[in-house]
Amino acid sequence: MNIILLGPPGAGKGTQATRLVEHHGMRQLSTGDMLRAAVKAQTPVGLKAKAIMDRGELVSDEVVSALIDAELTAMGDHVGAIFDGYPRTAPQAGQLDEILAGHGRKLDHVIELEVDEDALVDRITGRFTCANCGEGYHDRYKLPAVEGVCDRCGSTEFKRRPDDNEETVRTRMAEYRAKTAPILPIYEARGIVSRVDGMAPIGEVTAAIEGILAKR
Ligand code: ADP
Ligand code: ADP
Ligand code: ZN
Repeated sequence: MNIILLGPPGAGKGTQATRLVEHHGMRQLSTGDMLRAAVKAQTPVGLKAKAIMDRGELVSDEVVSALIDAELTAMGDHVGAIFDGYPRTAPQAGQLDEILAGHGRKLDHVIELEVDEDALVDRITGRFTCANCGEGYHDRYKLPAVEGVCDRCGSTEFKRRPDDNEETVRTRMAEYRAKTAPILPIYEARGIVSRVDGMAPIGEVTAAIEGILAKR
């Protein structure tokens, strides 16, 4: 199975992808995570991407599509893929079609997380993750069960993204509206789009997505 999670920054794509990975043994392909790893490792891609990401603008289509292609090649064709934060532009949607065809895959679902824009700044400025395992948290909506200790791995180190500030979030939302939201009709024409209320509690959003995946 190959699915795209679509939604603006802070919609809950990463949170839901992690849960689907745990329940279905699928693989999460997050171009944001791949780019952050490249920035950290100071690869040529990372060195170029850093300033763009800090501004909240989009990295080039060719760069992110190459990252996705490489990841799919590495993971083998029988493992299900959850695309998180990709595709984000019409050219990327076209490139994904070609890449999937090259791997003998086809898209099963595009799941749009519908959220209230006012909530996004709040979600993003409160977001933090475990520095060891990457588990996602929020200052108010998802705190570790024991304060300061990761639920999943027990680490006591957490981190926040440099681009998770209000100004950059506004740019990222504008990029989403201008370049990403317009790709939905491409998938609507194929009859594979489902919408989920992303404002519901995390577990309810997961249940709604599970319902969609179970339908076929
Ligand atoms: P969020 O989860 O908040 O939507 P991501 O982690 O997906 O953010 O992306 C962080 C940044 O990485 C984006 O603001 C953009 O600069 C870059 N990026 C990630 N995915 C893509 C993509 N598919 N195309 C272009 N740029 C991307
Ligand atoms: P995205 O990957 O779409 O940018 P995340 O999954 O990182 O979004 O979620 C953004 C923040 O909002 C995180 O701190 C996460 O814990 C929190 N969050 C995610 N889903 C929900 C939800 N349904 N209700 C409340 N907070 C949520
Ligand atoms: Zn952890």
